[in-house]
Amino acid sequence: MTPAREKRLAALRRALARRGFDGLLVAGYANRRYLSGFRARDMGLGESAGLLFIPRRGGPFLLTDSRYELAAGEEAPDFEVLIYRSGLLKILRPLLRDLGVRRFAFESAWLSHAAALRLIEGCAAEGVRAEAASGLVERLRRVKDESELAAIRRSVRLNEEVFAAFMERFEPGMTERAAARMIENLMIGMGAECPSFPTIVAAGENGAKPHAEPSERRIERGEPVVIDMGLVLGGYCSDMTRTVVLGRVNPEMREHIRLVRRAQKAAIAAVCAGVEACAVDRAARRIIRDAGHGDHFGHATGHGVGLDVHEAPSLNSRSHLRLRRNMVVTVEPGVYIPGRAGVRLENMVVVTEKGCEVLNRDTTFLDL
Ligand code: ZN
Ligand code: ZN
Repeated sequence: MTPAREKRLAALRRALARRGFDGLLVAGYANRRYLSGFRARDMGLGESAGLLFIPRRGGPFLLTDSRYELAAGEEAPDFEVLIYRSGLLKILRPLLRDLGVRRFAFESAWLSHAAALRLIEGCAAEGVRAEAASGLVERLRRVKDESELAAIRRSVRLNEEVFAAFMERFEPGMTERAAARMIENLMIGMGAECPSFPTIVAAGENGAKPHAEPSERRIERGEPVVIDMGLVLGGYCSDMTRTVVLGRVNPEMREHIRLVRRAQKAAIAAVCAGVEACAVDRAARRIIRDAGHGDHFGHATGHGVGLDVHEAPSLNSRSHLRLRRNMVVTVEPGVYIPGRAGVRLENMVVVTEKGCEVLNRDTTFLDL
């Protein structure tokens, strides 16, 4: 077993022991991959590509069906692969009995309600308590190890290269959808596994919607365009937003870009191990509010990124979670003027003991 994986399993087992659980049934794609290396993605509608059972002692086990038998053996060599042919309970119950499990947790967030009920009732019939729990593995995933940081750096770097390649091809008259499609085609062509979320290209007034969907609207010279893009490489996500203008930037826009840049710098300066997540959010929000745009910045300042593009911790105004070394978060303040335009700037940073390290080589609008 790799040292990194051994550490993750040991940390999870300590968390289980603290809560009095004899094991954890892991159902979510990213958690499964994090602990075992198994890469299969779920098919949706509650159809899981497989589950892990991590007992406090013994195992660990990967439970899947015959479609994934080969991949499971290759990708999760440290796990004993158990193939279920007629339902999970048929192999889970004897396993729990052999391990002497009396009480275990399962990831309710990743199972359908019906599947969870079947599990609880099926185990109760054997005198075993299955209890819904979530966040046990997500909490471990907040702090990245060296192999994860390396993967995230590669993902960020490729995302920037894709952005640079796109900007060489970006022309007035292109529609938002065509631009978004071009970005995603470049991602795949340049070696990404897939986009980490649907690419946002939002021009002019569409940029005022933080989650705009690319439309058939044509992009004109001189208007601000919000481009929010990310990709998956080696399983790890990147997430970056640039606001660009083809041609000259008008004075109003210049003010907004400068303001968001100042807010982003203040937030990045606030990031440090030991600092509360809400303090980072406050640093960005104060600057935007003092400029009279408090109502124009509605979302959180940032979020964690890793195997999922949005994961813990959230940098929002209510979170008192203290940042820790090697957490990876985005810093992405924005100003959105309804009916007119929006500006958002997003970089990713790694939390350090003394502050943070910005992962992006951000060169847009340095001259403004
Ligand atoms: Zn983003
Ligand atoms: Zn983001």
